Amino acid sequence: MWEAFMKGTWQDDLITFTQDIVRIPGCSTQEKAVAQRIRQEMERLGYDKILTDSSGSITGVLGNGPYHIFFDSHMDTVQVTDESAWTYPPFGAEIHNGRLYGRGASDMKGALAASVYAGALMKENGSLEGKTVYICCSAIEEDYDGEGTWRAITENRLKPDVAVICEPTHLKISLGQRGRSVFLIHTKGVSAHGAAPEKGVNAIYKMAEIIERVRALSDRLMSREGWHGSIAASRIESTAVSVNAVPDSCTLYLDRRTTVEENEEYLAGEMDELIKGTDASWEVYEVEGTSYMGAAVRLHSLLPAWELPGEHPLALAAEKCFREVLGREPETCRWDFSTNGVTTAGRLGIPTLGFGAGIEKMAHQTDEYCPVEDLIKACEFYSRLPQYL
Ligand SMILES: [Zn+2]
Repeated sequence: MWEAFMKGTWQDDLITFTQDIVRIPGCSTQEKAVAQRIRQEMERLGYDKILTDSSGSITGVLGNGPYHIFFDSHMDTVQVTDESAWTYPPFGAEIHNGRLYGRGASDMKGALAASVYAGALMKENGSLEGKTVYICCSAIEEDYDGEGTWRAITENRLKPDVAVICEPTHLKISLGQRGRSVFLIHTKGVSAHGAAPEKGVNAIYKMAEIIERVRALSDRLMSREGWHGSIAASRIESTAVSVNAVPDSCTLYLDRRTTVEENEEYLAGEMDELIKGTDASWEVYEVEGTSYMGAAVRLHSLLPAWELPGEHPLALAAEKCFREVLGREPETCRWDFSTNGVTTAGRLGIPTLGFGAGIEKMAHQTDEYCPVEDLIKACEFYSRLPQYL
């Protein structure tokens, strides 16, 4: 293996490995086959230790120094609903015009592969001096943001000093993300025959007023300057004994994206305000399932936003490393979507930064691709970053 590295063929091996894992489908909780392939590659690359946990995340360990750096990439992807809509097969991992096509190419098997290979390069380039590096390939991110990473860190008793989230940034440095919460609002009615609606109370009509308040809140949030939150009514459900009956319950789902200031207490106040003067109730959406390891997993959908100050040593280290590796000035950004940073920065308070191969807008899209050049550059960046910390 090391000989291959010295001959400079690691780039080809990295591309081949990325293609291999893109060809293995694996949605949240169904990552077993892709996890096995990642473990096999880590073994081949000479990782010192390979850990797992009840979510099924695979965490490779390199070095044994006192300063601990945690890299995180999720191995699961969203599903493909209509294969025929893709120009190239979503599990074909074909390369055309310097782009590697397939589900998960950008979100985020490309960056994952780059981080796995970066670990191997660190063994060669002296990056591990005084460092312990964790390359975490986390499970269940798409459906349970942060849970796979939470289990990887807590069950293995890791104590990272800093974390790098490798979600796609197209080689920009991400200094944070918006939070993501899902709330349910419930209204109750009284069932009655549809032919005599005056004898019942219609739960849908009761929700109508609340929907108008949600729409008004959305307008207020969208009119704010700068980095701001948002709200969207994303789904509505009702129950009625038949389609010829007045519904006795209605549930509205709200997707709320948040800033750092919009914390749990703030959001609770906002939900109280939305149902004020009605007999509706609200709750935080809970998602439950079972990991491929057979463990129960649960997501309480209240995921905090986080930010890294631009002058933080981790941000400065990343900028220096970027200039060295890419030979230009770095650009910074913040993710609009949620990442496992909700665990590293949000729940555990670990200084966290983002940098990844692939394009943010490609996530969950038909014809998703990752520029091959991004893989190589991200891998080099990850492999050198420990030297600046
Ligand atoms: Zn992702």
